Amino acid sequence: MALVLYDTWSRTVRPFIALQPGHAGLYCCGPTVYDHAHIGNLRTYVFEDVLRRVLVLNGHEVRHVVNITDVGHLVSDADEGEDKMEKGSRRAGASAWEIAERYTRAFMSDWHALNLLEPTLWCRATDHIAEQIDFIAELEQNGYTYRTNDGVYFDTSRQDDYGYLARLDHAGLQAGKRVALGEKRHVTDFALWKFSPPDTTRQMEWDSPWGRGFPGWHIECSAMSARYLGSWFDIHCGGEDHIAVHHSNEIAQTQARYGTRLANFWMHGHFLTLDAAKMSKSSGDFLRLQSLTERGVDPLAYRYLCLSAHYRSKLRFNHEALDAAQAALDRLRKAYASWPAGGTADADYVARFNAEVNQDLNVPRALAVLWEVVRSDLPVATRRATVDAFEPVLGLRLAQWRLDAFEIPADVTTLAQEREKARAAKDWAEADRLREILRTQGWQIKDGADGQQLSPLD
Ligand code: AMP
Ligand code: ZN
Repeated sequence: MALVLYDTWSRTVRPFIALQPGHAGLYCCGPTVYDHAHIGNLRTYVFEDVLRRVLVLNGHEVRHVVNITDVGHLVSDADEGEDKMEKGSRRAGASAWEIAERYTRAFMSDWHALNLLEPTLWCRATDHIAEQIDFIAELEQNGYTYRTNDGVYFDTSRQDDYGYLARLDHAGLQAGKRVALGEKRHVTDFALWKFSPPDTTRQMEWDSPWGRGFPGWHIECSAMSARYLGSWFDIHCGGEDHIAVHHSNEIAQTQARYGTRLANFWMHGHFLTLDAAKMSKSSGDFLRLQSLTERGVDPLAYRYLCLSAHYRSKLRFNHEALDAAQAALDRLRKAYASWPAGGTADADYVARFNAEVNQDLNVPRALAVLWEVVRSDLPVATRRATVDAFEPVLGLRLAQWRLDAFEIPADVTTLAQEREKARAAKDWAEADRLREILRTQGWQIKDGADGQQLSPLD
């Protein structure tokens, strides 16, 4: 079955057809590095990782670009308040540059612990100031900008379809506009360039044709995605919170410069929530990956938990669900490790698994197929080879996990004990029968002078 994906722009599930056959350009909004990523953020990256793996499964070579927001993301999405980086710097008593470095490194370590594939390219906002200035200059030339006392703004009234991605209700927005606009002309207008406040030196600031300052948050993604993927590429992703503001603004800017909506597909991961509330970095009240590993949970168990919910449904986090994910992963690892290599994958199961993931990444249903394989009466080597065929999409590192010599499943221990008894009673037929059953489950028995030795099949 051919790959179909849900596109937020059209609000439909539609076939994914690469713009350039065999290649897929994928841009994912990355972290704002003023603090650790929380497990909600990480859920979105797991969804994007699975998307990438499924694109590869379908024969596409993926060019995957992820940005690092290290400047310009203000505390309020309405272009007010302090820059999050400068705030993080004050809180930690280190420079904004040190903060960015520290949390970028922490982010990459979470990334690898979750077995997320390395992007083709990471790009930092502060390494692309020139591209952002060029972009704004073109928007200015095309007549989409105006200046206020504190910056250069994008005039959203110039586009009839501004906010289409979010199906923005313009009439409702105007009616409910009690927010202080300052010098902004419309509620939805947003900053392209902010001036450094007079008489203050910001840690992160640059000269521009409009004055010393720093870029607004949205322009970095339009500028860097266009630079590395072109102004019309396959898929742009982020969390669902980006639909209304950040991605609507990226589209507005790109439309005004290139006349495209940037990406053919816009895909959004739904939130991980904590006790019905959304988890937020800015409230400072959140769980990190390390908060889970400190409780003895494997990062890949968190990955498994994310895989068990469809990316377009909310996932309510609690520790019981995480413990259940850890238990399921442990069972899977033990079963897998007890199976011998050298088999051939079962084509029907592989086709069913692929059909599920191709149906808008229905990984929960694909996991159900996986468990059917585990519990099936297929020869164990076939089960292993079949699960091997799923692994490039699931990324659970099953083959890297080694069965500890003492971790023998209880039912295997019982069978081995019965076999020992049969041998002691010189019931050779029964002893051979039990040895054979153990062999089909991936275990071998060697008889020695001091009794039998049980081990996974070589
Ligand atoms: P940020 O570091 O805040 O810029 O966000 C990084 C990514 O995490 C973005 O794609 C956000 O949309 C996404 N995100 C933020 N909060 C959550 C959450 N609670 N659950 C899932 N994704 C989230
Ligand atoms: Zn972005």
